Amino acid sequence: MRSPAPPRPAGTLLDAVPAPLARRALALPVALAGSVLHVRSRTGDDTDPALDELRVHAGAADVVAEPDPDVARHLLAAYAQHLLPRLGDDPVALLDAVLDLAAGVDASDVHLEATATGMRVRQRVDGLLHPVTTVPATTVPALVARTKVRAGLDVAERRLPQDGRLTHPLPDGTLDVRVATMPVRDGERVTLRLLPAGPTTVRLDRLGLAAADVVALTDACDTADGLLVVCGPTGSGKTTTLHALLGRLVDGPRNVVTLEDPIERVVAGASQTQVAPDRGLDFAAGLRHLLRHDPDVLLVGEVRDAATARLAVEAAQTGHLVLTSLHALDAPAALVRLHELGVPAALLADTVRLVVAQRLLPVPCPDCAGPGADCAACAGTGTRGRGAVAELLAPDAALRRRLRDGRGPAAHHAALSAAVGRRLRTAALTRAAAGRARASDARRVTPEPGV
Ligand SMILES: [Zn+2]
Repeated sequence: MRSPAPPRPAGTLLDAVPAPLARRALALPVALAGSVLHVRSRTGDDTDPALDELRVHAGAADVVAEPDPDVARHLLAAYAQHLLPRLGDDPVALLDAVLDLAAGVDASDVHLEATATGMRVRQRVDGLLHPVTTVPATTVPALVARTKVRAGLDVAERRLPQDGRLTHPLPDGTLDVRVATMPVRDGERVTLRLLPAGPTTVRLDRLGLAAADVVALTDACDTADGLLVVCGPTGSGKTTTLHALLGRLVDGPRNVVTLEDPIERVVAGASQTQVAPDRGLDFAAGLRHLLRHDPDVLLVGEVRDAATARLAVEAAQTGHLVLTSLHALDAPAALVRLHELGVPAALLADTVRLVVAQRLLPVPCPDCAGPGADCAACAGTGTRGRGAVAELLAPDAALRRRLRDGRGPAAHHAALSAAVGRRLRTAALTRAAAGRARASDARRVTPEPGV
């Protein structure tokens, strides 16, 4: 279900109805037609008394409401975009507007970058950075100080990196933000990472994967033991896919435990442990401890070293379903990587149930022609959200026999590639051909076939 496209209300209407009022009413004024004020509200109930105050401020005789389940985000984006160029040198309002806008457009990060002439503010939406505003040099110290105060950092410390956290109020909840500062040539840079709020259920069928891929993943989850590997570069959505699988597994009768770095998302029903290498609890040590807690399903956030690889595969061989992620270009490369980390090929043949190599593709905005358009739905970025594409490798009996010949997975590259079937590039281009991705993105994010 898609909510109605966010409207772009007239600036004069947003001036007449102040933001705090709209936030309290959880309603966004969108138009004043004659003496009738049109608003978006969560329920679309015209008789909601909270709308009356908006009506009075707009100088209207009547109010008509339209339902919009996303109204909280839409009103944040509309007011922040309207206010940002009008805030002058007020650092408090500036930071609030930047955070409001980021929450409103679902940004993952906001970058405040010191430049020779002031500060550049950009936000990452659907994986790409977009300009937000620029801050004159005279306002930069106050803006950085304001951010540090909100994050509980030392305002006077400008020469060393600092890490903190702040909570920003939203009309329908709060936004948790991780704040990191770093001295740079022209001053300081501040990076804000927006954290997902509370337990979120990610559904496997909402990741954008092809229906057949979802079935293969679901089947792999239903097996009692073995290794399920999700691979791809940083930012390819591996953790989200793993958490979607966990979301399915916690509903069953199995004991689900995880080892993560960091815990990016709370999965209700799973025992999640954050690794702490500085206290001796790295992936390998954590895995040894977790195996004493009678697990059925283990999520090992990432396999980075030989000890973790060996332990994960051994756990998969001894009656546990082990889910993990790996940095590897494609599905055959994941097996090669595990072998390089010291896992014997025969053990891979015995344990690997499924390898998923994935990438995220921006979804073209259905409400506009593309980037740069004056589109409120995508804030002019041309895309709305990202969907996953994948290639799958589920070794069959013949491939397992080959892998046991001791020559290692790299020697069987052609057979492994053939076993994958539809490669990542093809999957991505197929999606582009269906209008659900851009061909340029499909080529940019997927590996050249035949490599
Ligand atoms: Zn658009």
